[in-house]
Amino acid sequence: MKIIHSVNQMQRFSNEQKKKGKSIGFVPTMGYLHDGHLSLVRKCRKENDVCVLSVFVNPTQFGPNEDFQKYPRDKKHDEVFAKREKIDIIFYPTEKEMYPSGYLTCVTIGPIANLLCGKSRPEHFQGVATIVAKLINCVSPKVMYLGQKDAQQALIIKQMVRDLKYSTRIKTLPIIREKDGLALSSRNKYLKADERMQATCLYRSLKEARNLIRAGERGPSKIAKAMQKIILSNPSAKIDYIECVNANNLVPLKRLQGNILIVLAVFVGKTRLIDNITVNV
Ligand code: AMP
Repeated sequence: MKIIHSVNQMQRFSNEQKKKGKSIGFVPTMGYLHDGHLSLVRKCRKENDVCVLSVFVNPTQFGPNEDFQKYPRDKKHDEVFAKREKIDIIFYPTEKEMYPSGYLTCVTIGPIANLLCGKSRPEHFQGVATIVAKLINCVSPKVMYLGQKDAQQALIIKQMVRDLKYSTRIKTLPIIREKDGLALSSRNKYLKADERMQATCLYRSLKEARNLIRAGERGPSKIAKAMQKIILSNPSAKIDYIECVNANNLVPLKRLQGNILIVLAVFVGKTRLIDNITVNV
């Protein structure tokens, strides 16, 4: 396993591999790797000659009062993980190179970035799209692997790749959960013991929604109410949003039909957690 910090070195490595006819698979992350990342890495390893993992806690996707400073970081753990999974390259770009003083250019996405998480995190998806564009330009992957855990992020990156004519293909892989249903996330580390127990309410509410839809319920507000009831029975839970949207474009549904994404963000204590489920009817 090789560790690369510089953009130039990363680009040179990728060019050499491509000249040799090797396919490059890429998993972008913010580190503190867990089994959710593992599923992406394993797929990437299986499907490509060369597997690149990036670890970069991207400052521009955090709001001024968010957790950029305290976001969990553990280089040692991430490197053990990457070695074990036979990753070829860990790419740790530096903030200085990604955002040199005087940089001006950003990638903005249309209205899809203002829905759902974009409402409470107004700069978030511009930060995400900008860093992913830069990372693609460094790594030049044939395929990039993303998690359905961040469903809106995956759709936005797909949109950007389409609009900006990148040749990279995007594959979105299913959400990996703890045994009790909590979606794995680096932010789960913030949860105190009692909050960790309460945090299962996200997935329980999503399962209830799915059951109701399968039983014939087609009204989004009925679904949201049933979910609220489950979530708000937990003293530390505060809902940011619950929505039933079209899974292909995130447009809110008036009647539940087709490929439905039920998606939510909930604060458990001070920790903001997101989760989702898709239902096809
Ligand atoms: P992050 O390090 O949180 O920025 O996540 C890096 C990638 O891993 C993103 O594409 C996430 O959607 C994906 N990911 C994070 N958690 C999970 C999970 N529980 N299941 C599947 N993918 C995940």
